[in-house]
Amino acid sequence: MPFDYSSLLRPELAELRAYVPDLAEYSIRLDANEAPPLLGEAARQRLAEAAAMSWERYPDPTAAALRESIARRCGVTTAEVLVGVGSDEVIATLLTACGRTRRGPPVVLTTTPTFVMYKMSAKVRGMNVVEVPLDEDWDVPVVSLKRALDVVAPGLVFIASPNNPTGTMAASDRLREVVECAPETLFVIDEAYVDYASRDQLDLYHRFPNVAVMRTLSKIGFAALRVGWMIGHPDLIAALDKVRQPYNVNAVSQRLAGVVLDELSAEVDGIVRTVKEERERLAREISAIPGFGVAPREANFLWMSSTRSAEQIHRSLAERGILVRSFHRMGGRLAHQLRITVGTRDQNDALLRALREVS
Ligand code: PMP
Repeated sequence: MPFDYSSLLRPELAELRAYVPDLAEYSIRLDANEAPPLLGEAARQRLAEAAAMSWERYPDPTAAALRESIARRCGVTTAEVLVGVGSDEVIATLLTACGRTRRGPPVVLTTTPTFVMYKMSAKVRGMNVVEVPLDEDWDVPVVSLKRALDVVAPGLVFIASPNNPTGTMAASDRLREVVECAPETLFVIDEAYVDYASRDQLDLYHRFPNVAVMRTLSKIGFAALRVGWMIGHPDLIAALDKVRQPYNVNAVSQRLAGVVLDELSAEVDGIVRTVKEERERLAREISAIPGFGVAPREANFLWMSSTRSAEQIHRSLAERGILVRSFHRMGGRLAHQLRITVGTRDQNDALLRALREVS
């Protein structure tokens, strides 16, 4: 007799699907916003050397050295830094610890379209999620966000800037306006792509106690390490530390992330510079193809519009061995949008050739 687990499980799981990326073979993957493989040989050697360690002991449960490296890089104190297994884990930790509304059951507020894990992670915890559509320029919609803040009084708000999948920045004055009007709500500004952007929002963090900022190594060449962090008020970090698993970031990742931050910043700057140059070249060339357009961009990917359906373009590119992200299943204005990660020069050239064929 097969056992029916559904009676044991949280009912909200019945409505969710596990996160499974497209695992088919593609010669060029431009779907996950990773950095292209541009790390130099000397840096690879240094990381390989640093990974030699003893294996019997648990990692430092406080990740003290890594938090120091992060604090130095971000101009804050170690007491303001929480590390996670990618920002995904930081999001999960936040959602476990926070989210109660001032008036009732936990509600999380975010924009749409945006990074899917805010919603997924909230829903598996039985929290309600309210999504406010971005405006016609994919920017933060101040009026509707303020209304939502007023009506649902969420405990927690996630805003990605630059946003995934649109690649656009939230205008600072707009962010400030919404933060100011809800002083009892925690605003988490997700800066996963900040290295590719023209500015950051740390000044908001320094001005408002209800603002925290998340960052990650995943988008600048080190997705394999799974290291992300949040910068927040020491009291908030101390509370979140009660929720964090004691040995969450493994010893290899702690050590190598430290090497990346302390020793390889010039190398990383070089990768970021190359990706930004390629991003602008791709944007120029794609915009010149009839039927395609590209939104203003501050991340390591392009938000491309197509007069033809995104589904068709996605399929035609896949037939040519190139994987990008299509959002057609979400319908509405997203039926004509594709998200394309900037690759190596050769990969980008192959993408351009394919786009010219399928346009
Ligand atoms: N935030 C945003 C906006 C993202 O796009 C992503 C990755 N797609 C993440 C966070 C997750 O980053 P990490 O790899 O650090 O978990």
